[in-house]
Amino acid sequence: MHQPSPPSPSAPFRPLIDGFGRQVTYLRVSVTDRCDFRCTYCMGEDMTFLPKSEVLSFEEIQAIISAFVARGVRKVRLTGGEPLVRRDIIKLIEAISATHLASGQLEELTITTNGSQLGVQAERLATLGIKRINVSLDTLDSERFKEITRRGRLGQVLDGIDAAQNAGIAVKINMVPMRGVNDDEIVPLLEWAHGRGFDLTLIEAMPLGEVAIDRAEAHLSLREVRDRLTECYRLEPIAKRTGGPARYMRVAETGGTLGFITPLSHNFCESCNRVRLTCTGALYMCLGQEDRVDLRAAFREGGEEGLDAALDRAMILKPKGHDFVIDRAQPAVARHMSVTGG
Ligand code: SAM
Ligand code: SF4
Repeated sequence: MHQPSPPSPSAPFRPLIDGFGRQVTYLRVSVTDRCDFRCTYCMGEDMTFLPKSEVLSFEEIQAIISAFVARGVRKVRLTGGEPLVRRDIIKLIEAISATHLASGQLEELTITTNGSQLGVQAERLATLGIKRINVSLDTLDSERFKEITRRGRLGQVLDGIDAAQNAGIAVKINMVPMRGVNDDEIVPLLEWAHGRGFDLTLIEAMPLGEVAIDRAEAHLSLREVRDRLTECYRLEPIAKRTGGPARYMRVAETGGTLGFITPLSHNFCESCNRVRLTCTGALYMCLGQEDRVDLRAAFREGGEEGLDAALDRAMILKPKGHDFVIDRAQPAVARHMSVTGG
């Protein structure tokens, strides 16, 4: 693994290591809880979003990212909500790029997006040093797309994906397969993605927040999906790791890569290298637990030093793992993915 170097010769480098010996090198930042879609597994139809005054300013986000980079974080992912619908998001990306990508302190700045804004923003993102993005796409059928996203237009997303590819950005497609919703499209999406040169990652739906769909009914174990896929494809395990929880296979017939993120049927916590910042400044050390540290308060009260001390507290609090159980009547965690940042 890459060993981060000290930020300055005068200050000793103090990597972020938690109580279980895991080093945090990856920060996910939710820049907004708002979204132009309302995907059925992610949000309710009538979501109430936070007042803008509660959302971190760009200056606060930058200060927090800088604090993490100084402590050895090498990868930052912007997410949400839909990160690309936040007003002037390009200005934030410009600032992070100029400060941390240009200096080489940050190895990667990346984005998870629903793709709706890529048509207009992809080229600029590429010039700012965004080399890879994840685009969420659960179906290639435009009617079904409307049903799942409640508001989205498939054509706009496909145009956005084209724009990203034309700009030289590597695209990874994220799909959440759900029983009786889109499980018949796993093979078509795989063929389409690999045919276009995109990796495909399947994400097991997680019990986060109240939504309209019955999660237990729609739950589809990715183990079952993998078994089904092996009836028509040769799946060869590969060592590829992106610092995330995905495990990857090579599909011999297509030559493409297929990832599985399986928080429910397989626990990936032992190698967890990440923490998540919500758009209000709460740092969650685990997507599936409530332990958190208020970084906005730490910054407002103590500036950079306050932030740094808060990161130490966060490392003490990082839990060993989540305990999602799909059969529970209540969601394991009340907050939606769009709040913590997917
Ligand atoms: N709006 C962007 C998007 O859709 O890619 C970024 C935020 S979204 C919350 C990030 C990822 O989380 C998406 O791939 C989405 O499919 C996934 N997601 C949302 N709710 C989920 C849930 N309950 N379980 C698993 N994945 C979920
Ligand atoms: Fe929006 Fe992404 Fe959630 Fe869909 S999955 S509602 S696009 S935040």
